[in-house]
Amino acid sequence: DATKPLLQLRDTKISYGAIEAVKGISLELAKGELVSLIGANGAGKTTTLNAIAGLLPVAGGEVLYDGAKINALPAHKRLRQGLALVPEGRGIFTRLTVEENLRMGAYCRRDSDAIEADMERVFTMLPRVRERLQQVAGTLSGGEQQMVAIGRALLSRPRLLLLDEPSMGLAPLVVEKIFEVIRSVAAEGVTILLVEQNANLALEFSQRAYVMESGRITLTGSGADLLADPKVRAAYLGE
Ligand code: ATP
Repeated sequence: DATKPLLQLRDTKISYGAIEAVKGISLELAKGELVSLIGANGAGKTTTLNAIAGLLPVAGGEVLYDGAKINALPAHKRLRQGLALVPEGRGIFTRLTVEENLRMGAYCRRDSDAIEADMERVFTMLPRVRERLQQVAGTLSGGEQQMVAIGRALLSRPRLLLLDEPSMGLAPLVVEKIFEVIRSVAAEGVTILLVEQNANLALEFSQRAYVMESGRITLTGSGADLLADPKVRAAYLGE
């Protein structure tokens, strides 16, 4: 059913011990949408992504993926169902080669012919990665490492890709390249939830966005509407 949301959070709460970092948020992503989650440092964006990926338990509410409640599903099973995370800081295996990093993304798959086809797809999207296949990943530039992290996630054949601050620490030209890659992933039909500090970029880039403040979603709308919203401009676009 194409009209059913691929991901839905309903009044989802996430805590670190006694600290409630996410205080009941609701959001949804339709299949094929590119949606961003913006907000200041500490608003709860990373916490939200990690809980969707299954790395943190939810303390209340529901997480629904393709219509099924996945609150208690372990992270590796979510990955097998097509829910992949590119974590904050990229999570590259620095002492392994680029190729070994990419193949890690496919570790839960058995369809070796399709894996080789997906390697080719990743190389087409990320030509720089093919050039560096045998290089130790820790010696790559930050932008190249980000591309490997995205490539690794693509090797799991994601239906929903969670991207945590892909632009972090990268020069503007490199950020542009990364966002071109994200755009081509979206064009292939992968649903994307993007967490970004760079609100301007995220809003220009996304169909819709949610604004998070202190563990709550305070605003939502189309990227264009939020870009034009004086409250958003004052709080997140430095005006
Ligand atoms: P950032 O861009 O800095 O990552 P964020 O919006 O992603 O910001 P989170 O990292 O999700 O925010 O943090 C949300 C809140 O949870 C913050 O108040 C933070 O201090 C707290 N927090 C995050 N990780 C932990 C942890 N491991 N233990 C306790 N509190 C945490």
